[in-house]
Amino acid sequence: MNLNNLNTYPINQLSKQKFSCSCGQTHEIISNIAFDNISEKIDHYIEKIIPPLSLISIIYNHFSKEKYGRVLDKKLGNAGYRVNSQTKETVGQPFCHSIIPEDTRLILGIGSHSHQSEIKQLAYSLNIPYAFIPSCPSSHLLSLAPSYSLENPKNTFDIFKVSPPALVLCEAAKNNYQSAVADNQSAIIIPQAGSYFSLLSSKLVSLFDYQAAALLNAEKFCPDIFDQALAIIDEATCDALTIKNQFELEHSLKEKLIRYGALCQLKGNTRLVLGAEVTSAKIFSALTHYSGENTGENEFLLARVLMRLYVNYLQEENNFFTPPPSNNERANLISSLLKIQEQTVLEKMRPLPNLYEENLALYKLKTHRQELFALATEFDAKLTLAFSSLKKLYLDEGYSLINYLTKKESAFSISLAPDLAPKFTFLSFMKDRGLLESMLASQ
Ligand SMILES: [Zn+2]
Repeated sequence: MNLNNLNTYPINQLSKQKFSCSCGQTHEIISNIAFDNISEKIDHYIEKIIPPLSLISIIYNHFSKEKYGRVLDKKLGNAGYRVNSQTKETVGQPFCHSIIPEDTRLILGIGSHSHQSEIKQLAYSLNIPYAFIPSCPSSHLLSLAPSYSLENPKNTFDIFKVSPPALVLCEAAKNNYQSAVADNQSAIIIPQAGSYFSLLSSKLVSLFDYQAAALLNAEKFCPDIFDQALAIIDEATCDALTIKNQFELEHSLKEKLIRYGALCQLKGNTRLVLGAEVTSAKIFSALTHYSGENTGENEFLLARVLMRLYVNYLQEENNFFTPPPSNNERANLISSLLKIQEQTVLEKMRPLPNLYEENLALYKLKTHRQELFALATEFDAKLTLAFSSLKKLYLDEGYSLINYLTKKESAFSISLAPDLAPKFTFLSFMKDRGLLESMLASQ
């Protein structure tokens, strides 16, 4: 199949697809992907992975246990599976191996992104395949990104290598919300269109960093995957402008998050989802003790600041010759602000480039500056348009969005982000050239 058809290809037929590509590679989706009514169809999809009579260990978080617990346990039991189900709260944190019976054939995790990270690590260490039912925007997007787990208990932003899921099941039953509202159920129904949309739009920074990494850091780049990712983000902006029904909009955006996640699997790494906006948002959460519920909004607001920063610095060639940053002072600051041991920070920080690397980087920038400037300007305009669409998705028309990220918090979050990010981003390029020091010093 040709990669250019990806966006129109039925989502439930994306599982295990291979795409021949103009970049010369064959890209492949490793996982099974399903966008369907989970309560009704779960056994149908599980059967594709393991046969009946097998033991499934299901791990819920508190919220997903309430929403799905009874239905799924029963449905899988009726289909002939043996089910061992538990909630995260009864297990405690972090998960330990002993909660998974030895003859488990599949671990099924249901919950948010941090829940998913733990499931991934658990399944990986036990060498058991796992399936995931994502419950929030970021977990929809990230569940399909291969080989990573972002969190660890010490909050030091490690990225672990783990296996991709055997199956990702996304809830597509939009009628659930309407009937829940109609039945006046006790569960709080929060429309998530704003979160879905802001998270997807914020990936413009990931895409920019992907392009910058190819030009300045000689990383592999697939133009078709880049174009497809951009097309999904543009369509999401179009959705936000044209679809008036909140539930329909949410459904359509959720589908786009899954397609974007599928692209991550084709790419084979996390380039399309872990740009500078993600580390910045992580530092913002650590600084302000946000619980991570507003992941999409945080990443979006920081993405806007970041893209503006990229535009400003790329505008003039001579911006790039400044004294290098002091990693020791930065480690000190991170240690005191984020309460991470200084030794740990120093071990994880990106080493400063040597003279050869420095000269090569500046030479490459000189060659590609115009191209990157044009791209940053284009993405900046896209983010501005996205923001005006986003504001309409909130009851207060974005009033609280405008107010909740202070200048000081965003400056700290952005200027410290490259220190704890293992990947090359345009922001880390700026840090290595000392360009973020003035941002830090002004705080
Ligand atoms: Zn390609």
